Amino acid sequence: MTRYASVVDAIGNTPLIRLNRLSDETGCEILGKAEFMNPGQSVKDRAGKQMILEAEARGALKPGGLIVEGTAGNTGIGLALVASARGYRTVIVMPDSQSQEKKDMLRLAGAQLVEVPVKPFSDPNNYQHVARRLAERLAESEPNGVLFADQWNNLDNRKAHYIGTGPEIWRDTAGTVDAFICAVGTGGTLAGTSAFLREQKADIVIGCADPHGAGMYSLFTTGKAEMSPGGSVSEGIGLGRVTPIIETARVDRAYMIPDEEALPLVFDLAEHEGLLLGGSSAINIAGARRLARDLGRGHTIVTILCDHGSRYQSKLYNPAFLQSRNLPVPSWLQPRAPIEA
Ligand code: PMP
Repeated sequence: MTRYASVVDAIGNTPLIRLNRLSDETGCEILGKAEFMNPGQSVKDRAGKQMILEAEARGALKPGGLIVEGTAGNTGIGLALVASARGYRTVIVMPDSQSQEKKDMLRLAGAQLVEVPVKPFSDPNNYQHVARRLAERLAESEPNGVLFADQWNNLDNRKAHYIGTGPEIWRDTAGTVDAFICAVGTGGTLAGTSAFLREQKADIVIGCADPHGAGMYSLFTTGKAEMSPGGSVSEGIGLGRVTPIIETARVDRAYMIPDEEALPLVFDLAEHEGLLLGGSSAINIAGARRLARDLGRGHTIVTILCDHGSRYQSKLYNPAFLQSRNLPVPSWLQPRAPIEA
């Protein structure tokens, strides 16, 4: 369908794009689901849409109501766009470490932003706890009521992928998909997509790609979520605990992916395939490569291209930032000799 009643209907139905160099290298069909093509340029538009539509259906959102959420940014953007289209307002609580581009985009999308210092989840001032308390406080004076979207605990987030991402992958691979792999922020994408795919194909291989500093590799290999050492420049992924959503995920293979392995893959895609992606896509693609090597040639592997690279020009695509983190700077990012006009 190419004519929509509103921007809300333009969310989802993203294409699969063959990652050519990686597919040729591994002998597998490695396909990236281009979630950066959603109106808010990320996979989280789906969760934003689903959480709002389901809340409306339950009667939990009234016209003119206020939506409050804690987010690394992308869920906030998705919520804000859908909220504008359907007559709600948004207050978004976000750690101040996230990219300036996401903060700017949130304001552009109409959200009121509350930035808080980065704290671990165990700290009461972690942005997720601040968001919950703020939602409760604002509810006392908000005439049309407050919806706390609560994406880590809200199964409508998972449902967006069970009814959307999963069926689209099944349809667009004509059932030939052998494996699906992605990283975890809330786990909505991994749990929802994989649940649908496994119902279609019981022996599908589900993989989890985890950045350093997160707990999903440990969860899916030992049964206990323990944070791995180190960290990652990727944003929006890196869960360290078991949530109601991630509890439902059945994962066959897990990989812990260092940034040094992942980032060159997105730099390569930008240089040779015209694909501009963020850091979580890098972790996903590196995971798909590991899975391809483990499964062997001839398999069709789908992963998620979570958001657009323009969101990270000040970080991932900024040589000074990369150097400050001792990360490799691709040659095409180096300043070029000027051409006189
Ligand atoms: N990549 C990015 C850039 C994100 O913002 C998010 C969500 N925070 C994810 C990946 C992970 O998605 P999910 O919450 O469905 O696990």
